[in-house]
Amino acid sequence: MSVFHDEVEIEDFEFDEDTETYYFPCPCGDRFAITREDLENGEEVATCPSCSLIVKVIYDKELFMSGETIVAPSSTSKLELVQS
Ligand SMILES: [Zn+2]
Repeated sequence: MSVFHDEVEIEDFEFDEDTETYYFPCPCGDRFAITREDLENGEEVATCPSCSLIVKVIYDKELFMSGETIVAPSSTSKLELVQS
């Protein structure tokens, strides 16, 4: 199994809107990277392209995976059976 170099909250990542990728500084001088699409797919491992280190991304999966907010119609119609 992979051993995480660290666990980093998504808030501590820097988001690049052009590439839609979150970055976090790596000790090697490069940056860990994970895309927003990865997060939406439930991925939680950010990798560094220059070394073998990886970090675990701490984030609320539901916030990313529920990309579309579906508002369920609240039909609270009560059926009342009146027996005579
Ligand atoms: Zn690195």
